[in-house]
Amino acid sequence: MKDMRYFSGLILLVCAHAVCAQTGDGPEVAQAQADIQKLRALVEAGALPRVRLEKAEDALADARDAAILRKTVYGQDLTVEQADEMIAAADRRFERRKKAFDEARKLVEAGVAAKLSLGGFLQDLDRARQECDLAESRARVTREVAEMARAEDALDRKLALAPGEGAALAERFDGDGVFTPGTFSRVETAFEAHFGKPLPVSAMGETAVHRALGFDHRGRVDVALHPDQPEGVWLRQYLTEKRIPFFAFRQAVPGKATGAHIHLGPMSTRMALGG
Ligand SMILES: [Zn+2]
Repeated sequence: MKDMRYFSGLILLVCAHAVCAQTGDGPEVAQAQADIQKLRALVEAGALPRVRLEKAEDALADARDAAILRKTVYGQDLTVEQADEMIAAADRRFERRKKAFDEARKLVEAGVAAKLSLGGFLQDLDRARQECDLAESRARVTREVAEMARAEDALDRKLALAPGEGAALAERFDGDGVFTPGTFSRVETAFEAHFGKPLPVSAMGETAVHRALGFDHRGRVDVALHPDQPEGVWLRQYLTEKRIPFFAFRQAVPGKATGAHIHLGPMSTRMALGG
């Protein structure tokens, strides 16, 4: 009987590793899962109190959230859904540390623990708060890129229905129709020379947000400038003089002051379905 239990535990452990390999959760998750299997057997045998298992399950949830953050906060390219998932993971990690800190503080207040013991909990709490801030700022950028992509999507749909229209959604300049990496680097250099700061590029070529919309944004660049702010006015003038194609968007949705940007290059195309 004892051997049986050991054997089934082993199978679970192997499965846990297989799941981990598939999702790429990382070593912390695999370790926490392995710990839980061992603890569960010990708790069931009455050798350990149940609270130990609960703590380990909490650690597993935390390791999973850490894996989400590793992929998103420090990853390259996010969709809006991934950005939301990232914020939720950072918030959960903060709440766990807040709970641990509150429990430790209660012990100090009750005179059971020394005040000095709070230091580590406070550090963890601060780190979790920084993680939340970082996640927030990344999510904000992702949402801005998504708003800009939405503006292009709205124009694309309008043009598909009525070619030649769409002037209300964006100002269009076809120029000589050519936009290459060389063209872009000339724009970048000229902007920086004029304003003494880098061109605020929000989407360089294709992004996860564009892919999620089924939009081929390869070879195009979005610049996070409102067409009517001084830098935007200068940029449109420069592009017109050099006959570089662009689209100037003043908003994503009429009446909403988001999604404004200048798109360099020809209009994006819709990706072929199934491709
Ligand atoms: Zn664009």
